[in-house]
Amino acid sequence: MSSVVETRKTSPSQNPTPRPKSVEKEEVPADINIPDNYVAWTLKNQKPRPPVTLDNLLQNIQWVSLAVLTITPSIAIYGLCTHKLQWATFVWSVIYYFITGLGITAGYHRLWAHRSYNASKPLQYFLAIAGTGAVEGSIKWWCRGHRAHHRYTDTDLDPYNAHKGFWYSHIGWMLIKPRYKPGVADVSDLSKNTVIRWQHRWYIWLIIGFGFLLPTAVAGLGWGDWKGGFFFAGAGRLCFVHHSTFCVNSLAHWLGETPFDDKHTPRDHFVTALVTVGEGYHNFHHQFPMDYRNAIKWYQYDPTKWFIWVCSQLGLASHLKIFPENEVRKGQLTMQLKRLRQTQEGLVWAPNVEELPVISWESFQEQAAKRPLIVIAGFIHDVSDFLDEHPGGRHLLVKYIGRDATTAFFGGVYDHSNAAHNLLSMKRVGILHGGTQHGLQDKSIPPAQRLRIARYNELGGSPYNSSTAISDNEGLLG
Ligand SMILES: [Zn+2]
Ligand SMILES: [Zn+2]
Repeated sequence: MSSVVETRKTSPSQNPTPRPKSVEKEEVPADINIPDNYVAWTLKNQKPRPPVTLDNLLQNIQWVSLAVLTITPSIAIYGLCTHKLQWATFVWSVIYYFITGLGITAGYHRLWAHRSYNASKPLQYFLAIAGTGAVEGSIKWWCRGHRAHHRYTDTDLDPYNAHKGFWYSHIGWMLIKPRYKPGVADVSDLSKNTVIRWQHRWYIWLIIGFGFLLPTAVAGLGWGDWKGGFFFAGAGRLCFVHHSTFCVNSLAHWLGETPFDDKHTPRDHFVTALVTVGEGYHNFHHQFPMDYRNAIKWYQYDPTKWFIWVCSQLGLASHLKIFPENEVRKGQLTMQLKRLRQTQEGLVWAPNVEELPVISWESFQEQAAKRPLIVIAGFIHDVSDFLDEHPGGRHLLVKYIGRDATTAFFGGVYDHSNAAHNLLSMKRVGILHGGTQHGLQDKSIPPAQRLRIARYNELGGSPYNSSTAISDNEGLLG
């Protein structure tokens, strides 16, 4: 940050060691001068490009991306039709798929876009070269888009906005000029990195070398399969790496569970992890993007995490960031509570205490002469549909019609199960005046309602909330 301040305050002529203008300019974070209401203002006022129609389609196509994403698979398919795939070439293609995939996942994504660990220079060069072999743009360009994706997820400022559909977030955003400009995201830290600058400078040559020449040469020099090397380890492998990465923007925002948060579209799924070299636990990743892991459990598939860990053991990587377990578990708990709340809301509960009429002992006696009413824990219950169902026999219920059966119910005659208590609460038809003052908690609250999921703003008014419950009841009695 200090260099940023210095750059802003000091003009180039006053600087004792002036650097090239382009470097100087890039060191100012892109988002340092944005207004406080940048997101809302931009979303409201940014004028999108007109919708794509048949008439303007050609002007809206991103031709370079279209060429790369159509010619590569065409070469691979042509190769499959005209050249026999050798075992050695197949194995090499798979290996090179993982190498270049890791360049993106461990390099572009976790190291540079998210700074989730520190990498030594040799590892950085390896990842920059491997990532170049995946032909997905320079590190800087890639990270700028990805940081905007995390910052403005699911909005028009998100370059791969998943709300625009699976295919848009997978590939459409690259083929058609975006309707909205991606939101601002700072990558000034990357401009200072010599490896990134080196890659940026030699990018085209590195693509030719590591996207095509190297995979071809290994198969050619290794076992004489030059053509196979080009068709399969070059083009075919590239096609797989492309769609593997694209799946992080599409499949990972579409398939699976949301165990940490459901505010946005990212999801966790094993299949996504499988096809993306471990980037499939995307719900976790969007919540804890600085964590070097995507999968937090040992049995989940995250080879990128394993690779980074092995590098750290070899002294090539350090400062692997892990989000505090306590905070991770808070996210999990929140989602578990949400699911429990849904279950809770799907059940039918005893009538609300406030809605029950308060009845005097005399009135209770009068009505009990007409229908089977029994008092237990201050509540009047109509047991007419239960007389013949009572496991202890009809006679025991009949015996207590018009009487208080609290003691008998809670162990005097039989210590009823929690299920019996829950069921009993469903038969409440009134509150006996003066009947609920004592034994309020255990006896008047059915077991299934003693522990409940409540929103923070519901706690105060709950009839089951200790002090307020008593005052509510006093109000009823009053
Ligand atoms: Zn995402
Ligand atoms: Zn990310």
